[in-house]
Amino acid sequence: MPLASLALATPLDAIDSIRPDAARLAGLGLSSVEDLLHHYPLRHEREEAESTIADAQALVEAQDGANLAVRGTIAAVRTRRGRMTRVEATLEDETGSVLLTFFNMPWLSRRLHPGQEGLAEGKGRRHGELLQMVNPRFTPLDAEAPREARSSRIRPIYPAREDLPSARIERAVEAVLEPALALVEETLPEAYRRRRELLGLAESLRAMHRPEDLAQPARARRRLAFEELLVMQLAVAMRRHQLRSLARAPRLPLTPEIDARIRARLPFSLTPGQEGAIREISADLAGDLPMNRLLQGDVGSGKTAVALHAMLLAAAAGRQALMIAPTEILAEQHERVLRAILAASEVEVCSIVGGLPAAVRRSRLERLASGEVALVVGTHALLGESISFHDLGLVVIDEQHRFGVSQRAALRRHRGRDGTSPHVLVMTATPIPRTLSLTLLGDLDVTTIADRPPGRVPPATRVVPPARRDEVDAYLRRRLEQGEQAYVVVPAIEEGDAGLAAVSSRLASLRDGAFRGLRVEGLHGRMPAAERDLVMDRFRRREIDVLVATVVIEVGVDVPNATLMVIEHAERFGLAQLHQLRGRVARSTRRGLCVAIAEAVTPDSLARMEAFASTDDGFRIAELDLGIRGPGELFGARQSGLAPLRVADLVRDLDLLALARADAREWIERSPRLDAPGEEGLRRMVLGRYGAVLGLVEVG
Ligand code: ADP
Ligand code: MG
Repeated sequence: MPLASLALATPLDAIDSIRPDAARLAGLGLSSVEDLLHHYPLRHEREEAESTIADAQALVEAQDGANLAVRGTIAAVRTRRGRMTRVEATLEDETGSVLLTFFNMPWLSRRLHPGQEGLAEGKGRRHGELLQMVNPRFTPLDAEAPREARSSRIRPIYPAREDLPSARIERAVEAVLEPALALVEETLPEAYRRRRELLGLAESLRAMHRPEDLAQPARARRRLAFEELLVMQLAVAMRRHQLRSLARAPRLPLTPEIDARIRARLPFSLTPGQEGAIREISADLAGDLPMNRLLQGDVGSGKTAVALHAMLLAAAAGRQALMIAPTEILAEQHERVLRAILAASEVEVCSIVGGLPAAVRRSRLERLASGEVALVVGTHALLGESISFHDLGLVVIDEQHRFGVSQRAALRRHRGRDGTSPHVLVMTATPIPRTLSLTLLGDLDVTTIADRPPGRVPPATRVVPPARRDEVDAYLRRRLEQGEQAYVVVPAIEEGDAGLAAVSSRLASLRDGAFRGLRVEGLHGRMPAAERDLVMDRFRRREIDVLVATVVIEVGVDVPNATLMVIEHAERFGLAQLHQLRGRVARSTRRGLCVAIAEAVTPDSLARMEAFASTDDGFRIAELDLGIRGPGELFGARQSGLAPLRVADLVRDLDLLALARADAREWIERSPRLDAPGEEGLRRMVLGRYGAVLGLVEVG
């Protein structure tokens, strides 16, 4: 097809010069001209300017494999035939000589001849005493051509594949770049671009693919990254706006009387952090806009009491409240606390977890639907069910920072009797690093508890090699004998058989060995609920000294007298997970101890162990985790269901992100539907990338 009739949507295999590579390009996900335009180089390299052979030799001495461009005269050519034909030419200038070796290019023996002047470009290697270039690019030059006529050039280096090297992609891009750029429509309004000093889109794309200097791609990258972040933030702001303008929530007012009633039931007085959180949350709950708030506070900061306060507020207003916990053990624990607080009150509580006898389950679901039960605690398996409420006013999601935007949206399907949409409170102890709270969770308002209940001391953390296990066990035994309790955590990421085996074998070896005579029991997710409850109860009542458990105890479990923890194969756990686990032994005024038994098998696990031992600050841990694992994995990009970022980097571009977020909120206030002139491109991108996941309503 003639390039004159090119469109951005033109398939690459319709373009003659690209067709031979079209299938391979498709393998990289590139099928149209537009795809190719947005296949950005990973980086740019300055092609070496010409140097003398002596300089080149010095360069290679210092850095084997350095990129060279040397100009000289061919002194000799030899061809060796064997399994591979090898053409060798010696290129000389007045300072030295370099051996050019070409494999499998027999035709070169006719093209290269002594006396031929030329430029060889490629990587230089030491070959004994000689400087060698293997398969360099050789450009014959006219002997009269002035030296240095050729200025150095910036080359884009593209994400490539073995069968499709960067240079071939570069050629394909070159083939369509100029005509395609003429078709590119600007997506950001001009006035805005000027205000934020952003390059135009076409200009940015040219600067990415064919920069004149190394500063250009950096400026282009900034524009493209900013656009990506802005589109994401506009989507988030749009969703927030729609939620606030379309949905109404029930008012759950906090009167001094209700407040006093709730406080009288709590077994302690609240910390300033808890007070502050309750103030912010109850201000939201008193209004008729659906609350959408994240409560973050490090492990042990006392988030549960804040959540219970909100739930009781819902009950006081005659509405229902649902609390979702990540594990059944935790759901049961929350139910227990609620019951204790509500002893001798009329408010009914129940829990819904897996493994309930069918009849019990059915009756509980019925009592929820009829409104007989005000407060319910369950695991999130509950969400998949056809559960219905009489009058749901509040949903609390505990310890699930991975709970995606779309999952929260699903919860909002439940309605109050009067058609209102429930308030939502998400709680997490894995503090959301600032970067992430600005992005995927960007539609949440954030409340932070920065303190802890009085008298808490952070546990000591030790990382020891497996060889010292006996020593650890002996030390633990001494403390156990003085009445402390311990968790021994064995890895089972999934509740698979490996975990069970680990629990039972470790259980057996401890009972017969180091902890002989102490009360040692096992706990894992595959145990029948009743049995598990019994074990937890006995542990809580100090009838068990040591609990050998899988990560079922990772989150939320609260047994203050348990102050000792051993984590087996700690290298297999993520940093945030280790910190959560350690949080189990930070609930007492007595100083806890967490021993991580680890083999630092990879640099990554070594980094994790060092980070874990070095700080007890959950925020710091989360930032380190982000650094080690990257934001996608930490947040669970899959759960979030949001489009991945291609240019922007949440860590590196934090300042851009903050700017994009502020701009987006202001923008949506001004133009909630993005339908002002000049906003068409943005609107298309926002709806195209995020419309479905965020449930954005297409209006107008
Ligand atoms: P997390 O924020 O990790 O969910 P919890 O809510 O489980 O923390 O609280 C940790 C422990 O601290 C619990 O034993 C809880 O009863 C206790 N606690 C919470 N708030 C206070 C307080 N204000 N004073 C004393 N103890 C408290
Ligand atoms: Mg908790």
